[in-house]
Amino acid sequence: MFDLIKARKNHGYQAIKNIADAKILSEHRGFPVIDESKLNGNVESIINSCPTKAISDKPLAINLGKCIFCGECEKISYGAIKFSNNYKIGCDSEKKLAVDSSVTYEKFLDSAIEAKKEIHKIFGRSLKLRQVSAAGCNGCEMELNACGNVNFDMGRFGIDFVASPKHADGIVITGPVSKNMSKALSDAYESISEPKIVIATGACAISGGLFADSKEINRTFFNNVKVDLFIPGCPPHPLVIINAILKFLE
Ligand code: SF4
Ligand code: SF4
Repeated sequence: MFDLIKARKNHGYQAIKNIADAKILSEHRGFPVIDESKLNGNVESIINSCPTKAISDKPLAINLGKCIFCGECEKISYGAIKFSNNYKIGCDSEKKLAVDSSVTYEKFLDSAIEAKKEIHKIFGRSLKLRQVSAAGCNGCEMELNACGNVNFDMGRFGIDFVASPKHADGIVITGPVSKNMSKALSDAYESISEPKIVIATGACAISGGLFADSKEINRTFFNNVKVDLFIPGCPPHPLVIINAILKFLE
């Protein structure tokens, strides 16, 4: 017993103490900074460089929900697109996913996830989530798994994944939703009792990502179900995921 206590003491506190201020690698591609004045008559090639059709013109904008953060556009944009490592890119509406030169990171953060008293009251101290991988590649799923490890320790905030949708307060969707997973996703969602929240994690879940044009996907689920929280990335880093959920819960 004393040996165990001693070992525990020697390990110290392993989790990141202040998750909201945690540093991330400078190489991490996070919020894009767009400067149209640096465009060099090359808008078309920038748009064509994007594998997920995330870039639009007039004004030049990136849809964070489609972006897989591959960096291809940045390479050929002469500085018109630059990815910062600012990672708090979760938001609560599809509209806010579109970032152009008028949206600075500070401006984005101000309104990305608006406080909702009801959400805080119901889920603020305990949020149990059921994860459904609807044909994800396992990248998003692995990062969600990492949220619970000793380093990120999402459980200390009362946020956990549960095995059964019947025990859950909400659903976390990953993957573009294949035809084969469409019914399973709806069934899992229906099995969660009200009130419930829906979190779309990763470009695939938000927009179909790289698979948006595939005949094998069926995203009709989203015609009837409103997503409460969008967490962009391919995959999103655990710090992106945890900070988005914490902000959502206030
Ligand atoms: S970084 Fe995003 S916007 Fe740029 S090319 Fe890749 S997917 Fe498209
Ligand atoms: S968003 Fe990227 S990491 Fe996540 S499931 Fe899709 S391809 Fe995989």
